[in-house]
Amino acid sequence: MAAKYLNNDLHLESPENKRTPIYKCDICDKEIFEGNDCYKIADIIYCSKCMDAHLQIIAETIDTEAFLVKLENEEVGD
Ligand SMILES: [Zn+2]
Repeated sequence: MAAKYLNNDLHLESPENKRTPIYKCDICDKEIFEGNDCYKIADIIYCSKCMDAHLQIIAETIDTEAFLVKLENEEVGD
């Protein structure tokens, strides 16, 4: 019986394990399932974690300390 088979299957493994990954992160090899965040740049697949890291690498680093010092100086000037 199909219903009985389904029940047995659920006992053996969680629905999470039964899902088939759609993609695999090219950076960390993490399997990406339906509904997961997934990004692609120049045919490279990124999971959300690696995308964050990638963005931090390519993004311009802003010197927040200098920005704050400038703000403070402007306040003092007024
Ligand atoms: Zn990754």
